[in-house]
Formats: sequence, structure tokens, C-alpha cells
Amino acid sequence: MLEVRDLEVAFGPVAPLSGVSFSLEKGETLGIVGESGSGKSLTAMSVMGLLPLSGGRITAGSIMFDGQDLTNLPEPAYRKLRGGRLGLITQNPMTSLDPLQKIGPQVDAVARLHLGMNASEARARTVEILGTLRIPEPGTICNRYPHQMSGGMKQRIVIAMALAADPDVLVADEPTTALDVTVQAQIIRLLDDLVKERDLSLVLITHDMSVVAQTCDKVVVMYAGRAIEHGPVEAIFDAPQHPYTQALIGCIPKGLSDDEHLTGIPGTVPNVLNYPKGCPFHPRCTQAKEICATDVPAFVQHGNGQAACHFPGAPQ
Ligand code: SF4
Ligand code: MG
Repeated sequence: MLEVRDLEVAFGPVAPLSGVSFSLEKGETLGIVGESGSGKSLTAMSVMGLLPLSGGRITAGSIMFDGQDLTNLPEPAYRKLRGGRLGLITQNPMTSLDPLQKIGPQVDAVARLHLGMNASEARARTVEILGTLRIPEPGTICNRYPHQMSGGMKQRIVIAMALAADPDVLVADEPTTALDVTVQAQIIRLLDDLVKERDLSLVLITHDMSVVAQTCDKVVVMYAGRAIEHGPVEAIFDAPQHPYTQALIGCIPKGLSDDEHLTGIPGTVPNVLNYPKGCPFHPRCTQAKEICATDVPAFVQHGNGQAACHFPGAPQ
């Protein structure tokens, strides 16, 4: 359904993303995990064709969606795809909702634009989707404004808008970060159910390894703009090969649900203007040896997964 190969992104002379690859089948959930600044959102923006808005461009690699390379898709065609077969859910619902417009017309507009429905068909579809998302009294909700709803409800409306065009792939960029913990769990469960019911493909971007463990089939771990380990979730959690992945998993039992549990790894995420030479993780890696500071590690196969480390495997 979606296959990203050796993606490289540049903003002028700076290349914050390189060598990112992953693939996603129908009905699968892929987690992209890493600290803030690791390139997760840039990856999402690349897939959605939104890089040019922020001055970035794809300088290498391919993004195949249903047999078509999106990296050279003209903007008018992209505009049809975005919000249509490719849905995006962002961290802050208010970036997707118009505060001055009632909920109903906002959701209706998606089916009218992408599915060519008339006003009454679109409204019937809106009410049905809101119901699927366990929003009580969908008919009444249609007449409310965004500010009359809680954060969790607003995020459900954003999900409804993404679903209204009957997408094949949903990209959710930290969809629960702005919500409180109990609501976070509900939204994640909801996304998980939708994938199963609708045979959707979901790219779930998160900094939370426990969310990956609960919901994803596959995972890509990112660090300093690179994918450093990827594979089936079970395999990665059973036997993480990369010291960074090991550290991320090691942070889970603390049970913290926000960025805190990642800052539990000593040291800071490298700045994009000054990525370390060699293995990007070497300044923070407890297992680093001399070669790590000079040579970029290649991917090493382990089971069905791969890790980019000179000394993959369990800590010595
Ligand atoms: Fe650590 Fe070296 Fe592996 Fe990088 S390559 S993760 S520095 S052991
Ligand atoms: Mg982000």
C-alpha cells in the first residue's frame, strides 16, 4: 500500500532526514517512534506532500503509494490525494478544525469534495461516522462549534474528517499528545478498532514505546533523522538489537506518558545543524567503541528486523 525507500529530505544545505525506509500493507499499523527532533514528523510531512509549505524538499528516495511515486506528483494531484485516500491526523485538533464553523458542515465538506456527495448524503455520512467514533448524539454535535467540545471530542471530529473520504492510509502524527492520559488511551483504542474494522493502513507517529507495543504490527525507530532499527513489533520488543531501542524499551516501566520518559535517556538529541559523525547515537551510547565515532553503521539483519549498529545485540 505504502512503501518509502531511502528517503532524504533537505532544507537548503541541511539534510535533517536521510535513509528512511519502511513499508506498510493493507490493514497494518506501523509505528514510527523516536524523541522530538528525530525526524518523525518530517517523515509524515514527506508522505503527505506537505514539505514544500515549510521550505523543504525530497532530495532522494521514493514514496510509492498504490503503485505511484508520490515524490514527483504534481501539487493538484496531491491535493486530491490528501484528505482523500491519504488521511492526516495531527497533534493539535485545532490545526484541522475551523473555529468559526459548526462541526457538521466541516465534516460534510470532506465527503462533498472527495466523494462528490450532495448535502444530505454528506450529512447522513457524517452522522454515521460520528456514531462509529462513539460520539454521543451525533445529530446534535453537528450543530456545535469546536470550542464547545472537549479536547478528546475535537480529536474524534478530526478523525471523522479523515475517515469521511474513505482513506486507504491514515497518518497520525502524535494524535494523543495534547490530550490527558485517559483520553489518550481511548483515542488509541479507537484508532486500533478502525484499522481492524475498515482494513485501513495506519502510520502511527509517537514518542511512546508502550503505545507501539499495544497497537502496532511493525515499528521504525528513528534517531537524528535516520531509521536505526525496524522490524515486526514482537521481534523488536523481544530482542531489541540497537542500544537506543533498548534504552527506549527500558524506559517503559516508569509508566510516564509524555516526553519525560524519553528524556530518561541521558544526553540530548543532536541538533540538525550538527549531527554527530559516524553513528549518530555514539555520544549517548553506553556501548560505543572507537569505530562508532567515525563510521556510519550499516543495517544488520536479525530475524525479520534490521538494526544500524556496529555492535548489535544484547548489552555485554
Ligand atoms: Fe552504540 Fe556504536 Fe551501535 Fe552506535 S554503532 S549504537 S555508538 S554501539
Ligand atoms: Mg513531531
